[in-house]
Amino acid sequence: MLCQKCTHSNPDENKFCGNCGAPLPATGRVTLKDILAAGLLKAGDELTISFRGKDITATLLADGKIKYENKTYDGPLAGAIAARGQTCDGWYCWNAIEHATGKSYAISHYRGALLRQKREGH
Ligand SMILES: [Zn+2]
Repeated sequence: MLCQKCTHSNPDENKFCGNCGAPLPATGRVTLKDILAAGLLKAGDELTISFRGKDITATLLADGKIKYENKTYDGPLAGAIAARGQTCDGWYCWNAIEHATGKSYAISHYRGALLRQKREGH
């Protein structure tokens, strides 16, 4: 996730910016692995990202990494850059199908659901 103070790109699980030490928002502490552990998404789920009118497809792995064209990427941001060749906020670019409803949502939707669960103490 990008540091809001210095725009340094940090791994999603970091609590503090690796460059300037500023605290990163709580949303940055949720990883795809956490979302898998909570059962909101499953290993092998298809992730899609739209680029120039086409849908690019990748696979969510059991360790929370993203597999795209036989390479694995550590987080949504790295995967998004690889797939699109340009940066975007991976949490809002990647879409996945919700198992309960069959509807497609940006993966930030699942991050939000997990943060809500944590706040409610489940
Ligand atoms: Zn920073």
